[in-house]
Amino acid sequence: MIRAWSIGLIAAALPAAAGAADIAGTRAAIVRSLDAQYPHLEAVYKDIHLHPELGFQEDRTAAKLAGEMKALGYEVTEGVGKTGIVALYKNGPGPTVMIRTELDALPLEEKTGLPYASHAKQILRGVETPVMHACGHDIHMAAWVAVGKTMLDLKDQWSGTLMFVGQPAEEGGGGAKRMVADGLFTRFPKPDYGFALHVGPGPYGYVTYKPGVINSTSDGLQITFNGKGGHGSRPHVTIDPVMMAAHFIVDVQSVISREKDSAKFGVITIGSVQAGNAGNVIPDTATVRGTIRSYDNDTRLKMLDGIDRTAKAVAMMAGAPAPDIKLSEGAKSVVNDDALAARSGAVLKAAFGDKARLMSEPGSASEDYSEFIMAGVPSFYFGIGGLDPAMLRKAAAEKISVPGNHSPEFAPVPEPSIKTGAEAMSLVLLDMLQRK
Ligand SMILES: [Zn+2]
Ligand SMILES: [Zn+2]
Repeated sequence: MIRAWSIGLIAAALPAAAGAADIAGTRAAIVRSLDAQYPHLEAVYKDIHLHPELGFQEDRTAAKLAGEMKALGYEVTEGVGKTGIVALYKNGPGPTVMIRTELDALPLEEKTGLPYASHAKQILRGVETPVMHACGHDIHMAAWVAVGKTMLDLKDQWSGTLMFVGQPAEEGGGGAKRMVADGLFTRFPKPDYGFALHVGPGPYGYVTYKPGVINSTSDGLQITFNGKGGHGSRPHVTIDPVMMAAHFIVDVQSVISREKDSAKFGVITIGSVQAGNAGNVIPDTATVRGTIRSYDNDTRLKMLDGIDRTAKAVAMMAGAPAPDIKLSEGAKSVVNDDALAARSGAVLKAAFGDKARLMSEPGSASEDYSEFIMAGVPSFYFGIGGLDPAMLRKAAAEKISVPGNHSPEFAPVPEPSIKTGAEAMSLVLLDMLQRK
């Protein structure tokens, strides 16, 4: 069962949409504010990029953003959900809107060659590891600070409460869940609407949006096949767990091709296989680890069931004891509120024209912003491009693939990506917070 994700139509509660002429005027005011701020924003961006921090270790990053928002006059609370921050600004009656950025980076060694490339290291599960902002969360943070200032510059044009949220540990660490558990929507006002954006390897200056499901549900699997080890020359007196793992890896793909509805998105990938250390020894056990992605819960449950049955059947076929099966729940799909997405999407279309694109399909990545939606905040989560369109056209012509999010070479261009993100976000916020 999908939980109450479709929050229901909120169209009746939405204020009347602004006209095209209003949007042009508003856009010009936003651009003036962003142009004036930009040197500072780029300095903030480069500083954060140079000092990336892993999930729940974002102490410096959180302190930096908290300082920025305090200086603007926001009421800031730190340490929400360990390293998360909340910055509030009340400006008369009206709805409360949440603007979320992630704070965390990834355990990767940066290979962009940029002058401000990261050489940072942090401890991950007891081991020192290089750290990099390879998902563009630093772009989101700079845009978040920019929106914080722009909304104050345009304070006489809106009424309501801004709730800026800096979320720790988005990259699989459960940071959103932890903030909600720490009272994000009880100690602070519960937002009427939520907004977030993500940069990707599309052309900069462009925005992408979609009502409904916009990315995938992610689950993890870890299965250990229990065999009976022995000499590689005498397999008949062993139960070979490597054979079981091999059968499983192949057979589990028939869950995708034969059991799952072929019209629905679903992926099972085994990314890690571990068994034995010597070529002439049959080991006792073999462990496979993988990821499971889907857009809807029925497909997800069908795949989880198929994985379970396939693993057990493979062990039974080999006359082996039952395998140890661990299926872990990761992030659920982010599902945009239909009415809000239609409304905010129309604002982006009116402002950006051909540079605002309606996505035909959800993306296959995952993101724990879904926790805020499941906690009852109807939301609009949209995309911005981060790469030079001319470079992308050249790469496409030469059939060269361009590094995207989570690549050590992912290098979104700060100007105009930060400005585009902040401009799009400010436009949809101003639209929702119009003065009566
Ligand atoms: Zn990421
Ligand atoms: Zn990300």
